[in-house]
Amino acid sequence: MYTDLKDQLTAELAEIEQAGTFKHERIISTPQSGRITAAAMGRGGAEVLNFCANNYLGLADHPDLVNAAKQALDERGFGMASVRFICGTQDLHLQLEREVSAFLGTEETILFSSCFDANGAVFEPLFGKDDAIISDELNHASLIDGIRLSKAARYRYRNADLEDLRAQLEATRTQNGGAGARRTIIVTDGVFSMDGFLAPLPGICDLADEYGALVMVDDSHAVGFMGATGAGTPEHFGVSDRVDIYTGTFGKALGGASGGYVSARAEIVAMLRQKGRPYLFSNSLAPAIVAATLTALELVAGSAELRTKLFDNAELFRRRMSEEGFELLPGEHAIVPVMFGDAALAGKVADAMLAHGVFVTAFSYPVVPQGKARIRVQLSASHTESDVEAAVQAFVASRAAVQS
Ligand SMILES: *Cc1c(COP(=O)(O)O)cnc(C)c1O
Repeated sequence: MYTDLKDQLTAELAEIEQAGTFKHERIISTPQSGRITAAAMGRGGAEVLNFCANNYLGLADHPDLVNAAKQALDERGFGMASVRFICGTQDLHLQLEREVSAFLGTEETILFSSCFDANGAVFEPLFGKDDAIISDELNHASLIDGIRLSKAARYRYRNADLEDLRAQLEATRTQNGGAGARRTIIVTDGVFSMDGFLAPLPGICDLADEYGALVMVDDSHAVGFMGATGAGTPEHFGVSDRVDIYTGTFGKALGGASGGYVSARAEIVAMLRQKGRPYLFSNSLAPAIVAATLTALELVAGSAELRTKLFDNAELFRRRMSEEGFELLPGEHAIVPVMFGDAALAGKVADAMLAHGVFVTAFSYPVVPQGKARIRVQLSASHTESDVEAAVQAFVASRAAVQS
């Protein structure tokens, strides 16, 4: 039986390779950090500067997190071998849920194995066929999938476009034979990861008030470093108490291991504990990860040092790259897209960058719009000023090498 499928898959894989979109993994043999040893295709392991991790605060190999994880291994064991509601809840899980709520200023928090699971859990129990979910067109894949799992009517608005959002809110009024949707929620990423642009949360919250809608923000690319205390984009925009549902990941700035959460009004979280399928039918987060994430939150809450370092690095990189004549997408986020337009050009520059000891990734259609190919640079608090300057110099040299 397998022979047919084998041939079909082999052909499809060859097509992906020919289209230039095959994802080849680079093998890292050190902890994740600003400086790693990575083996690329056809090249042995070499030390490179890493500018493509989501390790915004440099916590992925922070000694305090590593020690907290080790201590939890000794004191709480390796795994829970259970889902939360059977026998998989330790005091540590509840402590992390409380700390996330305190950090975000929300009522309650529920943990998941990933933010992908959090987004997969949140919609189906809360929104049924009489309801409306309005989603930004550039929302993360896990939001798109999670929304699909609910029976609610789905609406999509153009990226960060408040006029189109208003049009979609109007459209929900025709639902249910003109009675309007029973519940309406506007769903957005806090930060759009291909551009580093922030969602226009004040405008979204105003429209939500006007139309009686809820607001949900997936703040995976902001939690831990955006906003005065690192609580994310709602804090950055001063709308923290106007956001009804937060989701986010521990797999980026907050240590980078894994885990995600929904943080929201108490009744919403209570319902997800009863009905969220990835919560009910998937294993508890490992104690070592929970303990180290608690330490990450402590570090973030205790000092602005890492956030300040991150944004200093981002500002320095933006300024130096502009001085060297590169076209950047404007913004303030630690995601800095360097625009090349042409996909082949962006790919060649990224390859040349690696030869100059700097690891960055090129993105082209269909991940970004046609003709908007780019190299997405991500700064980290683990980079030094001279690392940032080395990246700028590598861009200058790679541009020259590719153009000659
Ligand atoms: C990274 C990311 C996720 C997925 O988070 P995981 O915890 O890795 O599953 C979800 N949403 C957004 C917006 C993200 O950037």
